[in-house]
Amino acid sequence: MTIREVRVYRVPLETQARYTMSNSTVSTPESTIVEVVDSSGLIGYGEACMASPQFQPAHNGGIRESLSVLAPAVVGLDPTQLGVVNAAMDTAMAGHAEGKAAIDIACWDLMGKKLDLSVVDLLGGSRTAEVHTYHVVGINPPEVSATEAIRLQDEGLTHLQLKAGGRPIDEDIAAIRAVADVLRPETELTVDTNRGWSTAEAIQVSQACADITMSAEQPCATEAELLQLKEHIRHPLVVDENATDLRSIARMISSGLANGFGLKLTRVGGLTKMRAVRDLCMATRTPMSSDDAWGGDIIAAASVALGATLDPHFSRGAWIAHPYHQTHYDESNGPRIEKGFVTLPQGGPGLGLVLEDGQFGDPVAVYSDV
Ligand SMILES: [Mg+2]
Repeated sequence: MTIREVRVYRVPLETQARYTMSNSTVSTPESTIVEVVDSSGLIGYGEACMASPQFQPAHNGGIRESLSVLAPAVVGLDPTQLGVVNAAMDTAMAGHAEGKAAIDIACWDLMGKKLDLSVVDLLGGSRTAEVHTYHVVGINPPEVSATEAIRLQDEGLTHLQLKAGGRPIDEDIAAIRAVADVLRPETELTVDTNRGWSTAEAIQVSQACADITMSAEQPCATEAELLQLKEHIRHPLVVDENATDLRSIARMISSGLANGFGLKLTRVGGLTKMRAVRDLCMATRTPMSSDDAWGGDIIAAASVALGATLDPHFSRGAWIAHPYHQTHYDESNGPRIEKGFVTLPQGGPGLGLVLEDGQFGDPVAVYSDV
């Protein structure tokens, strides 16, 4: 079994709900879908999609460009030898975790189809029947955020992530207070600033909200700033954007900086690398999520698959972009949110999705062994 061909597709995901973060709003991100085809014609699917160029260093056009180096490096390899596949990609190119993730996820899907096993089982098996998710409350006036928090809790969500940053901190504090006032006892609140505060602002907000039970997610831009504010803040610190690989995550656990992580499959480089991160986080009892930046049913299925293998006690859930856009690849089996939980796709082995050959149109690039 060898990789015969890698096909790359560009799929715009039209948004249907406004999604705001500090200093950016998501418009219509172009997802990159990868088909890894083996010597028998079996296809594995992978995907990577960045919400916006302000949010993280990768860019959707750049992901497709990186595949012009990564795909030729894996053609001819055995897709079930994921260590070899990942080593070949890392040797071919430094960084560019997103393109690597798309190929890695496609190889897992292909391996599952070949062995007639789900990716969840290949990753060690499900620890939960359904994976909880969290929902974002965007940057809005306090009363709008509170109304949204009530609506989401009425829908059954028990994990809310309030966005903050990119405006005067008085407004952030007012929004946090307004949402905290309507929180039900079972609901957990995280305030995610997506790097938007200075250390001084983060300390002021945390101290002004000392009576509120919440976590502070990525309040400042860099690990150095997070270290600086750590001893002054009153809330558990969750690291997202600075958690880029096993090495950085190990360092932030051992230094005591991180109380938890918001992790993205494509930023870490795919399921193979995320599995190692998962094992470290679970061994050190550090809560983590299994999210992605954005994207459709393929990356959502991969995120939920890994999310299902987390010890539920240390799982921060899996976030998927499906409520925010209208481009769904598998209407019957794609992961969907119901009452705050996501069920795993049941369409067959691998990622569990049923996708048609050719449904993504013409590839923008094809890399093959001929
Ligand atoms: Mg985050």
